[in-house]
Amino acid sequence: MARRRLMGILAGLTMVLATAVVVGVPATTAHADGCYTWNRTLQQGMSGSDVTQLQIRVAGWPGFQNQIALDGAYGPQTAAAVQRFQAAYGLAADGVAGPATFAKIYELQDNDCTPIHFSYAELNQCNSTWAGGRVSAATARANALRTMWKLEALRRALGDNPLIVTSGFRSEACNSAVGGASNSRHLYGDAADLVSGSASLCRIVQQARSHGFGGLFGPGYPGHNDHIHADGRSGFVWDAPTCGV
Ligand code: ZN
Repeated sequence: MARRRLMGILAGLTMVLATAVVVGVPATTAHADGCYTWNRTLQQGMSGSDVTQLQIRVAGWPGFQNQIALDGAYGPQTAAAVQRFQAAYGLAADGVAGPATFAKIYELQDNDCTPIHFSYAELNQCNSTWAGGRVSAATARANALRTMWKLEALRRALGDNPLIVTSGFRSEACNSAVGGASNSRHLYGDAADLVSGSASLCRIVQQARSHGFGGLFGPGYPGHNDHIHADGRSGFVWDAPTCGV
């Protein structure tokens, strides 16, 4: 009797589980990501926090010497950035962020929302708290995340050439210790000093102009013959005389 009752319970449980699977995974929801999941196709004219999340991921594709606003409004600049992102990864480049675009982003991001080739630890070799800079720890960390998505784009555009961050966020103490400028963007968390395994510094700094950075310094600029400095200031400044510019 006990065995029959158990079999009956198991049969019932199997039905419940089968039902749960059918209900829980409708065909339209292809993916639940560890960082963030988009639930609708996004295109020009739409707005919302899901648009902001998308903008952070495509901010490295704004076009030459340009930056896109992370304002939650899907305008022409966002559409163009999405289009460049799609083209860079071999997707149909229509400027509309649908399942294929989101699938590529999920593939590119870790569960902590950083792009796969960069990490919070790499962007902060100063302290573990992100405190002590010119902005709050939360802002410094958020700025670093935005910088990492630009770096991921730059890395892709350089033919998947590894980029190594030698210095990211700095507290006031860390910045003084390395002789950083008193108004250094490193204090805000949105700067990265870069070297590469194989791409030349000139190639990096030239290509970086198309990936959303506002400040770029490289060979020939004082103190920058052995690395590239890239940051997220607004506007655009760059100086790398050895590279012919
Ligand atoms: Zn720097």
